Amino acid sequence: MNSRSSLLLVGGLLLAPCAAPATDAGVPSVDVPPAPLACLAKWYPVLSPVRLESGWGFRLPDGRTYPFNDGRAKSFEEKLESPDLEDTLSIPYRTGPLAPVTREDEDPGRIRFDPLFHAAYGASEDRVDVVPIRFLGQRLKVHRKVAPAFRRVAARLEALLAKDASLKPFLTNLGGTFHWRKIANTNRQSAHSYGVSIDLNPSRAHYWEWQPKHQPLRWANTVPQAIVDAFEAEGFIWGGRWYHYDTMHFEYRPELLDPACAPR
Ligand SMILES: [Zn+2]
Repeated sequence: MNSRSSLLLVGGLLLAPCAAPATDAGVPSVDVPPAPLACLAKWYPVLSPVRLESGWGFRLPDGRTYPFNDGRAKSFEEKLESPDLEDTLSIPYRTGPLAPVTREDEDPGRIRFDPLFHAAYGASEDRVDVVPIRFLGQRLKVHRKVAPAFRRVAARLEALLAKDASLKPFLTNLGGTFHWRKIANTNRQSAHSYGVSIDLNPSRAHYWEWQPKHQPLRWANTVPQAIVDAFEAEGFIWGGRWYHYDTMHFEYRPELLDPACAPR
């Protein structure tokens, strides 16, 4: 019962008691998952869309099912603390020219659904399958599944460095990749826990937590456009596109760069 087709079959059996009304031809009128959920299943094959009584949901390999949309209206903070999977897509990620982020809580990608990452990458430190890679002459540990994407970014950055040495200071003394930990001052798991994130040189970075407290956040950045473009081209989002900015931080979140995953 651990193959993907078996799991889908279980979903199919569950479908019977709560299926949408049949048409005249006897075919359920609603039998395909919402496009964003289908898109997520493409990037995270551990996820199997299933019909639940409350609507569309998904099953993870441990057999648990979750609603795609739990039907609760939430503030941004509530989405951070207890998101459903649809919430993780609720703030669009935009590529293009770098610009200050001034809209409060515009943090595309900071909402994460940990059960999915636990299933995709590992639910504890010793279960995260990290492998060593060479990245611009430095040895880093990243998740085996994401290592090819990291290598493609490294190739892009090497080509850029060959033409423009001014990028070098951002790409030396890298701040780190795999580290099983909570996000500072929170009870939420850091994306660094899964081996899918990298911090560039912290001494060239700006981070909202370093700002004096009790002041509106004031976005700041010196990371060049070309570096951001190289990561985004390979499915990584950048923390510099967040109101709660973290300009050293890149994270493999291909669903946020795939227009097919955007909520309708
Ligand atoms: Zn980081």
